[in-house]
Amino acid sequence: MFIKPIDKNQQQQVCDATSDCLKRVETVFQIKLEPVTVTFDLTGRSAGMYRVQRGKRTIRYNPYLFAKYFDDNMATTVPHEVAHYAADMLYGFQHIRPHGAEWQAIMRALGVEPRATGQYDLTGIPVRRQQRFSYYCRCSTHQLSASRHYKVCRKKAAYFCNRCGERIVRSE
Ligand SMILES: [Zn+2]
Ligand SMILES: [Zn+2]
Repeated sequence: MFIKPIDKNQQQQVCDATSDCLKRVETVFQIKLEPVTVTFDLTGRSAGMYRVQRGKRTIRYNPYLFAKYFDDNMATTVPHEVAHYAADMLYGFQHIRPHGAEWQAIMRALGVEPRATGQYDLTGIPVRRQQRFSYYCRCSTHQLSASRHYKVCRKKAAYFCNRCGERIVRSE
């Protein structure tokens, strides 16, 4: 059994929900946020991801996990990723822990219990062979392969951003 990714109509619903969350953050925190780029190109185990790359900020959603758990992802993944974006805009992602107090406060403002996303049953979902791990530097977020991540954990390797030159560190 293979899950079909969400269609254009559902993608529009997700984009609308993302904009609604952004508006709510703007109202509560009295700020103006640029509309964030939304893509549906995320695969694997995560339902959503917030990425900063070469100064470009993107919320990526997993169209397969949204297809399988649409309502749940609308209720949790959308505010979760919007809160990452808003926390970055308000405080700078380098200055805060990804799921720290600032992110949690934004989640509460969105009326959502601040929890990291749950584990979904991935039956029927295309999953990458290798899991990825989130890292960041001064200018970007980075995804490391599992083998590189374990080398960092065992202090056998360190990796540096080839844009700003800073050592990249684990997000959570
Ligand atoms: Zn998160
Ligand atoms: Zn960098």
